[in-house]
Amino acid sequence: MQHVDIAIVGGGIVGLTLAAALKGSELSVAVVDKASCYQALDDKPTARVSAINQANIKALQQFEVWTHLQQDRANPYTDMHVWDKDSFGDICFSCDEMGSDALGVIVENQALVNALSKAVEAQPNVELITAGIDRVLAGPNQTMLMLDNDEVLSCRLLVGADGANSFVRKQAGLPITFKDYEHTAIVANIKTLEPHNNVARQAFTPTGPLALLPMSEPNVCSIVWSQTPEQANSLMALDDAAFCNALTAASNSVLGTIALETKRTAFPLTMRYARQWAKDGVVLVGDAAHTIHPLAGQGANLGMQDALALAETLNDLKASGKDIGLYKHLRRYERSRKTEAMKMIAAMDGFKFLFDGDDPLKKLVRGIGLSATDKLSTIKTAFVSHAMGL
Ligand SMILES: Cc1cc2nc3c(=O)[nH]c(=O)nc-3n(C[C@H](O)[C@H](O)[C@H](O)COP(=O)(O)OP(=O)(O)OC[C@H]3O[C@@H](n4cnc5c(N)ncnc54)[C@H](O)[C@@H]3O)c2cc1C
Repeated sequence: MQHVDIAIVGGGIVGLTLAAALKGSELSVAVVDKASCYQALDDKPTARVSAINQANIKALQQFEVWTHLQQDRANPYTDMHVWDKDSFGDICFSCDEMGSDALGVIVENQALVNALSKAVEAQPNVELITAGIDRVLAGPNQTMLMLDNDEVLSCRLLVGADGANSFVRKQAGLPITFKDYEHTAIVANIKTLEPHNNVARQAFTPTGPLALLPMSEPNVCSIVWSQTPEQANSLMALDDAAFCNALTAASNSVLGTIALETKRTAFPLTMRYARQWAKDGVVLVGDAAHTIHPLAGQGANLGMQDALALAETLNDLKASGKDIGLYKHLRRYERSRKTEAMKMIAAMDGFKFLFDGDDPLKKLVRGIGLSATDKLSTIKTAFVSHAMGL
């Protein structure tokens, strides 16, 4: 039986960010994932990407993750263009207004996981374990994980970083609230006639938002097209040519005609929110604690901030000789990150409500709101700062 201070279940973006942020810590860490974290990338970009904000890029640079990132699989975007398809609302943001080189980076999720796992592998205090978990036995001073490779891992603190359907959350009996967003996101990579010029674009249509995220190749974008489930089913049923025509129309032909580069995948979207994020011996981070609508591209960013906050709390506890497994010591982390997640969930609800449908009053509010924000530099700067995580 092996013992570590912290067992992180889930080696996705968030679990590995936590391990990376514990670089140089006196705490011993194991990251357990049922699949190998590192997966060699195909030549062609994958469609699962995230827009990572500047605050998290800075942290990844600080923990020497960035040097491991395959640079041709991450593309800095310099501008953002958001418009309402149904009104005169239109707004553009540029990194120049913020005195920065980029607003953020569009990175393939697997490329980021690969970079994180390379960085973490080099840390003497971290071990990566590829195994599923058969059983969890929680005791007063330690938790034992029965792994499906017949090994046993014991830890003082079990971290659930195992995504939306978290096994750890369920085992610990931490309750969640959830709500169907009544949207399904269609994800794919596309090739466009016109170059994207490193602009991230988002069109709000009456049936849901469409994001065109610029990838490293000048004419390739990743799309996240959130639609009502009925509309998404119809779009998924179309052949490639008809789908591309619908996409070209939805995007106002902003990048000209479109061809598919990958197959389409549909993700039903659910808001989830753990009402309790920790108890003695267990704590949650990332999608295990919250899932939000991808319309603002903030889910992974929020989770990475959870990871950074938790690492800081755990290092502080260790430095002051306190027990990292006691709920009363984890309350500070829980309180602060729950508040941030709640704010983000409320913001996504507000956006979704305001941009849903073709109610004339809402259209007027959207038109005036977007155009006025575009002209009011202080509000605009505050808005971009927030999106950049600064
Ligand atoms: C369509 C779409 C677009 C998005 N776009 C963005 C964006 O632009 N920007 C952004 O910030 N966010 C975005 N998000 C959100 C983002 O993808 C997630 O918030 C993020 O990937 C969550 O990371 P995680 O590490 O918490 O969970 P996951 O990525 O789900 O990782 C969980 C890990 O746990 C492992 N695991 C699960 N169960 C077990 C088990 N029992 N035992 C062992 N291992 C286990 C899994 O193998 C996996 O590796 C988007 C989401 C969607 C659906």
